[in-house]
Amino acid sequence: MESIKNKSYLYQAEIMERTLIILKPSCVQRTLVGEVISRFEKKGLRLAGMKMIQLDDAILDEHYAHLKNRSFFQRVKDSMKACPVIVQCWEGIDAARVVRSLIGVTNGREAEAGTIRGDFSVSSQENIVHASDSSESAKVELKRFFKDGEIFNYKLSTLPNLYAGDEI
Ligand code: ADP
Repeated sequence: MESIKNKSYLYQAEIMERTLIILKPSCVQRTLVGEVISRFEKKGLRLAGMKMIQLDDAILDEHYAHLKNRSFFQRVKDSMKACPVIVQCWEGIDAARVVRSLIGVTNGREAEAGTIRGDFSVSSQENIVHASDSSESAKVELKRFFKDGEIFNYKLSTLPNLYAGDEI
């Protein structure tokens, strides 16, 4: 019985995708941590890992390497170091795409109402959350922020209420 249970869970785990979220200093300072986590929970994603960390230049140089020639690079790094952040791993089918649609576009003033940035941000920099922009970058980013053993495999008991049988 135990092995059948494990087998069916492994099958589900294989089709699930994981993505990285960072609750930025703007989220922590504005005490929106619970509110933002609640958005992902209510959507039906599974929280697979979470911790509070202080970012430094080394990890930010890597994480924001694509911005290194932009005028605001140092300002963005300083903003990300202003206080500890909360890094999270969320899991679901197409998780990276689902999470990006929940957070909205980069500039909070342009993000649609109903998205996290659309509801809680009026800035292109102080925009509450980071989310991986694809499943490929999620794999790289999760390795950057989580060590082995910090991301957990457990079965969400509500899975049959979240997806149809042919989806999982
Ligand atoms: P996203 O976070 O939406 O994936 P980017 O990877 O382009 O966007 O940028 C990373 C972060 O850099 C943004 O979330 C934001 O905090 C900051 N940023 C991006 N563009 C600007 C800008 N024009 N001015 C200030 N900060 C910016």
